[in-house]
Amino acid sequence: MAILTPLDSGASGRRRLALASPATLEPIGEIEIHTAADVDSAVARARKAQVDWAALPISERARFMYRALDVLLARQEDVLKTVIQETGKPRTEALQMEIFAVGDALNYYAKNAAAILKSEKKKLHGLTRFMKRLRIVHRPLGVVGVISPWNGPFVLAMNPVIQALMAGNTAVLKPSEVTPFSGLLVGEIFAEAGLPEDVLQVLTGDGETGAALCRAGVDKVAFTGSVETGRKVAVACAEQLIPCTLELGGKDAMIVCDDANIDYAAAGAVAGAFMNTGQYCCGTERVYVVESVADAFTEKVVERVAQLRQGAEGEFDVGAIFWPRQLEIIEEHMADARSRGARILAGGRRNPDLEGLFYEPTVVVDVDHTMQLMREETFGPILPIMRVANEEEAIERANDSDYGLGGSVWTRDNAKGVRIAQRMDSGSICVNDMTMTYGVQEAPFGGRKASGIGQVNGETGLRGYCHAEPILVDRRGGKMSEGRYPYSVKSDAGLQKFIQFLWGTSLGRWLS
Ligand code: NAD
Repeated sequence: MAILTPLDSGASGRRRLALASPATLEPIGEIEIHTAADVDSAVARARKAQVDWAALPISERARFMYRALDVLLARQEDVLKTVIQETGKPRTEALQMEIFAVGDALNYYAKNAAAILKSEKKKLHGLTRFMKRLRIVHRPLGVVGVISPWNGPFVLAMNPVIQALMAGNTAVLKPSEVTPFSGLLVGEIFAEAGLPEDVLQVLTGDGETGAALCRAGVDKVAFTGSVETGRKVAVACAEQLIPCTLELGGKDAMIVCDDANIDYAAAGAVAGAFMNTGQYCCGTERVYVVESVADAFTEKVVERVAQLRQGAEGEFDVGAIFWPRQLEIIEEHMADARSRGARILAGGRRNPDLEGLFYEPTVVVDVDHTMQLMREETFGPILPIMRVANEEEAIERANDSDYGLGGSVWTRDNAKGVRIAQRMDSGSICVNDMTMTYGVQEAPFGGRKASGIGQVNGETGLRGYCHAEPILVDRRGGKMSEGRYPYSVKSDAGLQKFIQFLWGTSLGRWLS
C-alpha cells in the first residue's frame, strides 16, 4: 500500500509528507506540499517563459521532444524503478503503460504536431468567397495546469505535458501526492533535454495545491482523476471561465456476441480486468455474454485466471492494491454482491499467502444491476460476468450506467462489431480487443456521461491546447466598408430583393 505520513513543516514552513512503497513498504522519500503562493509564482514564471517558447518554430519545439525521448531511453531503468516503487505494478505493465506509451507519444507529437497545427486556408461558400479569404491559425492558450492521478503516474503526467508544450504553451504539472516521484521525473527528463527554464515546472502537493493551480490564472486545466475531484475542478474552471479537459473514472462494459472467438474473448476479458490490478480507468468492469456461449466463455475465463501469478517481486502478473482506500471499496462491492446472491468462481478474498494489500484475481457470476459491483467504479481485480439473452439486451445493459469511458465488443463479424460499437454510449470502443484507445495516438480519447468532459490525444486533443483563430481578409482591401452608410429604405428594399433571389430561387440557392 502507498503510505503517506504527515511530517512537521520544514524550514520552508510548508507541510511535508513521507511516502512508503506499496510493494516493499520501505520509505521512498518525502515531499513538500507547495502552497497557493508557490503556485501563483510558478504560473507567473510560466507566463513569462511562454512568450519565447511560443515564438519558436514548431520544428524547434519538436527537437526538445526528440531529446526528451533520448533521455527517456537512457533513463528507462530509473523511470521503471520509480514507477514500480511507487505503485507496485508488474515490470511488464510499467514498461508497456509508462515507457512504451510515453516513447510513442514523444515521437508521434514531435513528428506530427506541425501538420496538425499548421494554419489552414478554408474555402468559403456562396458569394462570400468572392469577397473574403479565411485562414484559421491555431494559437497556444498560454499556461496549462496539468493535474495527474496515481494509477499511471508517469504516462498520465507526461502525455498532457507533451501536447501542451508542442502546442506552444508552458505547463505547470501537479502530480498525485501519492506518486510524486514519477511526476518529478517528467520535469527532470525535460530539464536534461535542455528545455528552457520555466517552460515546464513540477510542483508537488496534494488536493490543496491542485485546487490552487485551478485558480492561479492558468488558461486551461488538463485533469485526470476521479469523478469527485473532477467536479471540483470543473466548478473552479467555470468560475475562472477557463476550459478544462476532465478524464475521469469508468465502468467499462465488454459485450461477447454469440459468434465471438471465445478463446480470444476470454483472454481479452482477463487482460482487461486484471491489468494494473484492475486499477485503470478503462479496465473491463462488466462483461455481458450472450447466453449461448456464456458457459464456454466463463469456463475459459476461470481457467486463465487460475494461471495468474500474484506478487510483488520477481516475475508475476498481478500486483498489489494501491492503498487501503481502494481495498475498502473492493471489499464493500464484493460484500454487497454476495449479499444479493452473486457467486464467486475464483478469488473473492485477500490473498492469504502475501503480506500487504493483495486481493486475489476474482471472477463473479449471477450478478445484476442492483449491485454496486455493476454500477460503481470498483477499480480492482474483479471480473463480473452477466448472462444476457441476446446482443440487444447486452447493448441495453452496457448503456445502463452513469459512466461512459471505454468498452469492447467481441465478434467474428467486424461490421457487426462496429454497428454495436456505434450504439454504445461510451467515449471509445474497441472491437476484439480490451480497451486500449488511450495508447493509440491518433484516437481522440475522452469520456461521456460521468466519465468526463472533452477529449485528449490526437488531432482533437492537440488542437484543444490551442485557440482556433479565424483570420478573415477582405479581397478588396476594405473597399466594401465605404458603402455601409447611409442606411436607407431603398437599400433595405434592394437587400430584401437580393435575399429573395438568393434563397427563394433555385439559381440563387445553387450560387449560395
Ligand atoms: P483523485 O481525483 O483523487 O486525484 C487526482 C489528482 O487530483 C491528484 O493529483 C490530486 O492531488 C488532485 N486533487 C485532489 N483534490 C483536488 C482539488 N480539489 N482540485 C484540484 N486537484 C485536486 O484521483 P486518483 O485517485 O489519483 O485517480 C484515480 C481515478 O482517476 C480513478 O477514478 C480513475 O478511473 C481515474 N482515471 C481516469 C483516467 C482517464 O483517462 N479517464 C485515467 C486514469 C485514471
